[in-house]
Amino acid sequence: SLTIGIVGLPNVGKSTLFNALTKNDVLAANYPFATIEPNVGVVGVPDPRLAKLAEVFDSKKTVPATVSFVDIAGIVRGASEGQGLGNKFLANIRESDAICQVIRVFSDPDVVHVEGKVDPADDIETINTELVLADMQTLEKAIPRLEKESRKDKERKVLHDAAVAAQEVLNSGTTLFAAGVDPEPLRELTLLTTKPFLYVFNVDADELGNDETLDELRALVAPAEAIFLDAQTESELIELPDDEAAELLASIGQDEPGLDQLARVGFRTLGLQTYLTAGPQESRAWTIPVGATAPEAAGVIHTDFQRGFIKAEIVGFDQLIEAGSMAVAKTKGWVRIEGKEYVMADGDVVEFRFNV
Ligand code: GDP
Repeated sequence: SLTIGIVGLPNVGKSTLFNALTKNDVLAANYPFATIEPNVGVVGVPDPRLAKLAEVFDSKKTVPATVSFVDIAGIVRGASEGQGLGNKFLANIRESDAICQVIRVFSDPDVVHVEGKVDPADDIETINTELVLADMQTLEKAIPRLEKESRKDKERKVLHDAAVAAQEVLNSGTTLFAAGVDPEPLRELTLLTTKPFLYVFNVDADELGNDETLDELRALVAPAEAIFLDAQTESELIELPDDEAAELLASIGQDEPGLDQLARVGFRTLGLQTYLTAGPQESRAWTIPVGATAPEAAGVIHTDFQRGFIKAEIVGFDQLIEAGSMAVAKTKGWVRIEGKEYVMADGDVVEFRFNV
């Protein structure tokens, strides 16, 4: 499944955040036989629709979609030249499908900053530079080879030209993602900066209500998504019973934990969406790429469902809740029959019909 690599300079709160994420791990609860790797945290994507579905269908349990985070060991200036854990770091990022940078904004004088000062813009620049340099090295090696190949094979020229264009973007110092470069034609080169980025600003809890500060930080990374949280508070929240956690959240003026936002935004950043199934056993959210067709969606449940796909019976979540039951939704004509070409919409509640 798709993963998000968590990166950041040392001492910005990565471990604190990652530990909180892994305490939220849903694998153990829902997939008892899964192997859990120490540097991977699989968290549920909070979805209030599941509890409502479970009410309508009297389901025994709910199963959320998940998103996986990988803790990627420290990057420092010079990583692209093999400094610190440079090579391992780059290999780990290469395997991730999106990059989440944690940035220190909190001011605690007892926690040393690796560059001597708290400067979010500078930290973002440092990491971007290492990733840009690594991609430039990849392209410098690849382009002469691709040029040779494209003389014999016209199809290779597509990749060659994309590589040359990418090199120009990188020369100007921006990541390929920030420049909006299409990752598809470049895929074979497994570049780092074509991957989608998202940013977690680790701020002091009392800054979470300071819109001016948050807007300034958001502007540093726009149009990438920004999440604001206090990693230390998150690690406390995860240890508390629900009522006390709600109290702590209210005391810092937040509606939900930052980890919930991170799971949701991370899921979206990976280009994923969910559809829903419901019954007496479970109400469940299934993960599909945006744009997946009905048979592809069925294949997520079981490959046989995709192979034998006949049709899907689909009702929108809101309409189902308004109807109060599947039966009423059917009498109102809100349950549609969709075929092989249907492109799934987020929140479709689905029952598949298939041949076995
Ligand atoms: P990493 O090197 O990025 O993994 O950073 P750590 O998670 O190990 O955090 C480094 C230090 O900063 C630890 O002493 C943490 O307790 C502290 N720390 C992490 N997050 C916060 C935070 O949000 N606020 C404050 N005040 N300290 C934090």
